[in-house]
Amino acid sequence: MKPAPFIYHDPRTLPDALQLLSTLDNARPLAGGQSLGPMLNMRFVMPDHLVDLNRVPGLDRIEARGDTLEIGAMVRQRALERSDVVRRACPVMIDALAHVGHFQTRNRGTLGGSLSHLDPAAELPGICALYDATLTAGSRRGEREVPMAQWGRGYMSPDLAPDELLLQIRLPLWREPHGHAFVEFARRRGDFAIAGAGALLALDANGRIARAAIVLIGVAYAPLRLTAAERALIGAAPDEDALGAVAAEATGIEAIEDSYVSAGYRKRLAGVLAGRALDLAARRARQAGA
Ligand code: FAD
Repeated sequence: MKPAPFIYHDPRTLPDALQLLSTLDNARPLAGGQSLGPMLNMRFVMPDHLVDLNRVPGLDRIEARGDTLEIGAMVRQRALERSDVVRRACPVMIDALAHVGHFQTRNRGTLGGSLSHLDPAAELPGICALYDATLTAGSRRGEREVPMAQWGRGYMSPDLAPDELLLQIRLPLWREPHGHAFVEFARRRGDFAIAGAGALLALDANGRIARAAIVLIGVAYAPLRLTAAERALIGAAPDEDALGAVAAEATGIEAIEDSYVSAGYRKRLAGVLAGRALDLAARRARQAGA
């Protein structure tokens, strides 16, 4: 099928793009087009105006500032994958990117688009949730910051007003030596995950868990942090029992059901993946602390 008719706008500055979004009815920003394109073709969305962000400067920076990694919304997924700054500061994002679509889609797809599209199984929102990222949304009315935990307001519904753009994502990095892991299960390579899990883990001098962050993707409408399990793990040795506790927490969640798998299957899979991610992160934490 082909998109419903729309008027195409090609702003060359951010103020122009925001002006268009604030004055046009039923307008949508276009980033890499890797989700919006198919949505338009299938007429899941029928905007009257498309505001192309691809020639708006200033939205594609990657910068590590002290303990914060700042990424512009228009940074291509491929640029993240090839960035030495990201590889050093946030290696788990590199691991997750390997699962995002194909390198062809990553050449065009952007971090901001992934966060704004907010597919429940999207990997990059999961990484942003793992780091408690802060997202900056801007419009002609000004800018506001949204904690990643509050970004998803419902199924594929980010906390964005129609006249707003997602401008930047800031990830507060972990100072202490730690391990990281991202694992997922998808029917085919490049497919959206059925479920996935990411983990960050820091150990104390006695090899016990000093800090943990665990996120699940694909199980709820937005990435899900296992905060109770994270708290329960503090002081524990990263062994079978600890992993079992995580798995138990994961299977206690409300999982979404779809034409692929039942909620029960997804919950069980999430528990297995959470345990695997934690185990890999613990092994890497030992190496980091060694
Ligand atoms: P677009 O498609 O241009 O836009 C997506 C949505 O976000 C639109 O509603 C748009 O209006 C809005 N938007 C975009 N940028 C902004 C902004 N700055 N501010 C406000 N709103 C904005 N993704 C995964 O996570 N995992 C996968 O496994 C995966 N597999 C894929 C396989 C294929 C074959 C394809 C084609 C895509 C796949 N994707 C996958 C999706 C891909 O990662 C997209 O790039 C991503 O979801 C959207 O990024 P985009 O830049 O292309 O955004």
